[in-house]
Amino acid sequence: MGKVTGFLEFEREGAASRAVSERIRDWKEVPLPVDGALLRQQGARCMDCGIPFCHQGCPLGNIIPDWNDLVYRNHWRDAIDALHATNNFPEFTGRLCPAPCEASCVVAIGSEAVSIKLIEKTIIERAWEEGWVVPEPPASETGRSVAVVGSGPAGLACAQQLRRVGHRVTVLERADKVGGLLRYGIPEFKMEKRVLDRRLAQMEAEGIEFKTGVHVGVNLDAATLRAKYDALVLCGGACQARDLPIPGVNSRAYTLHWSTSRRQTGELRENRSPKPRPSAPRGRKSSSLVAETQAPTAWARRTVSIARACTSLRLSLVRPTHARPRIRGRNGTTSFVYPAPTKRAVSVSIRLARRSSSETTAAG
Ligand SMILES: Cc1cc2nc3c(=O)[nH]c(=O)nc-3n(C[C@H](O)[C@H](O)[C@H](O)COP(=O)(O)OP(=O)(O)OC[C@H]3O[C@@H](n4cnc5c(N)ncnc54)[C@H](O)[C@@H]3O)c2cc1C
Ligand code: SF4
Repeated sequence: MGKVTGFLEFEREGAASRAVSERIRDWKEVPLPVDGALLRQQGARCMDCGIPFCHQGCPLGNIIPDWNDLVYRNHWRDAIDALHATNNFPEFTGRLCPAPCEASCVVAIGSEAVSIKLIEKTIIERAWEEGWVVPEPPASETGRSVAVVGSGPAGLACAQQLRRVGHRVTVLERADKVGGLLRYGIPEFKMEKRVLDRRLAQMEAEGIEFKTGVHVGVNLDAATLRAKYDALVLCGGACQARDLPIPGVNSRAYTLHWSTSRRQTGELRENRSPKPRPSAPRGRKSSSLVAETQAPTAWARRTVSIARACTSLRLSLVRPTHARPRIRGRNGTTSFVYPAPTKRAVSVSIRLARRSSSETTAAG
């Protein structure tokens, strides 16, 4: 395990954020890299529980206590091997996952959870920097072929696993670029597209073929596919947004949804940062915004730039019932109020003083 008394000695610490004055000028990621020494302390907080509930919380079954311990002992190379053993893309999950492992962490009963997600992200980023993440082509070919329909994280993970055991894998994607919602859903400030492209380059080097502009069932029929490949895997995702069942959703609200993100991320295809634009007219006295999300903190960050144009803003979120409220205003200019998290529709009132740009942050 990490340090036996680590959870008693060290408090949970997270990554610092880039200054607001800097990050309102681009769409890039908000957290700053974390110092290795701090990370080791955070790893030391893990108790290596006899029954590690973080395992149950993690949908991937990540071997969390093992790599917490390896980070604490400064064995980063072994840590990435342990992490990759269950997770093809820790750089995606380390940025995007809502971290149910942390909600399950036993340390959280009496203190704050081990910083599992931060440790995960830092292990993989260090591995990329050190050159430890390299193409892993199969040792031999099976002679079998598989078509994977859809290039979101499900399709990509499936393709990588199948290729590594020696099948010839072709990923078919109807969009113009590979990545599914990783590219056309997740905004740049949560995960820069370079992170996705870096992994795709590895996969191509392993021998996976990507074909874009192929809409199976529309410009390529299933019979042709079945004739050409030994197996098909359908990873088409959910292409239809959920409705937002709260009163007033169609009134004077601004509704942010997938199409907005798609347009925004489309502008970032070449990893260029557009000039930030407010989504609400400047000088507007008050406004409301409706977002359907499982990640309210992310939307809160996104809406700070919108809210800056307003004297007040009402933000309505739909959240899963198990999620915990994690937003805290820090400098008095922003306040976030959450009713009981068991309610399906949660209203969050945000008051922002005009031009309160200097310190406004949202934790989580
Ligand atoms: C705005 C937004 C923010 C999100 N933020 C987070 C987050 O912070 N954390 C998190 O964990 N999750 C987040 N999610 C959810 C996450 O992106 C999805 O759960 C995940 O992408 C689903 O992966 P997938 O591979 O199943 O499907 P998708 O990513 O949807 O990929 C499916 C792909 O299949 C393609 N396809 C579909 N049909 C066909 C066809 N007939 N022929 C060819 N191609 C086809 C689609 O074009 C698409 O590229 C977010 C989603 C959105 C919309
Ligand atoms: S539940 Fe928390 S303390 Fe226990 S092993 Fe998992 S990360 Fe470590």
